[in-house]
Amino acid sequence: MRDIYNRFKPLIPDSREVKLNLDLDVPNPAYGFTTDSRLLSEVLLILVDNAIKYTQKGEIHIGYEMLRNEQVKFIVSDTGIGIPNEEKENIFSRFYRVKNEINEITSGSGLGLPIAQHYVLLLDGELQLETTPGKGTTFSFLLPFKEGEGYLKIVS
Ligand code: ATP
Repeated sequence: MRDIYNRFKPLIPDSREVKLNLDLDVPNPAYGFTTDSRLLSEVLLILVDNAIKYTQKGEIHIGYEMLRNEQVKFIVSDTGIGIPNEEKENIFSRFYRVKNEINEITSGSGLGLPIAQHYVLLLDGELQLETTPGKGTTFSFLLPFKEGEGYLKIVS
């Protein structure tokens, strides 16, 4: 998460009224865990890239939270343009882009979210969406701590 933050932070020009924040709610003593970091990074890259693209003014929060029931919750939220109710399912279809003022002037494949959704499933989670047009969007997913290859595993 810190890597993603360090990667994107310098890419947002000072002239843009958008602030990127990193919120890590880690218990003390902290747990370490392993996962398929390539898949996880790819998901976070897609979500943060979108959050920056669709937020003209305001704040983006990225972070994770360790939950008591052996789960970790990853969150990417923004105060951007939001997604209309009737588009909430469409955006997970391949090549689909909502018709809005930002997509009119930016290019994109419409593949990011379907890929992110698929990768989260491979990690044994489910990508959740909460959004309000004009107010913002939150994508989150819970990943379980599980023993075994390819799963989250508590290492200390
Ligand atoms: P690319 O994946 O090439 O960047 P894209 O961003 O258009 O293209 P997706 O990531 O699949 O494609 O997103 C699909 C659509 O969902 C976007 O075109 C946009 O309309 C909407 N969307 C995704 N994330 C957000 C967000 N954080 N806020 C508002 N709209 C979003």
